[in-house]
Amino acid sequence: MKLLPSCHDVQTDLTEYAEGTLPLSRRLGIWLHLLLCRVCAAFQRGLEALPGLAKTSLAPPPEAPEAANEALARVQAALRKS
Ligand SMILES: [Zn+2]
Repeated sequence: MKLLPSCHDVQTDLTEYAEGTLPLSRRLGIWLHLLLCRVCAAFQRGLEALPGLAKTSLAPPPEAPEAANEALARVQAALRKS
């Protein structure tokens, strides 16, 4: 058994890794690989952001709507000036 899985292995197994369905030896290899490999770490972050992304697009913005409106008004004012 290889100590470290390849990038391809990691990215293939990442969903199962996140679900915790992989055997411990595989999880350890992926965990180590994620610590060492920026590409796969970024890939994992992207994967984790996916369900959150769907949620945030449906849910109202977390900030106060007044703050969002104010920011929007400022952007529109800036656009009018130019
Ligand atoms: Zn990698």
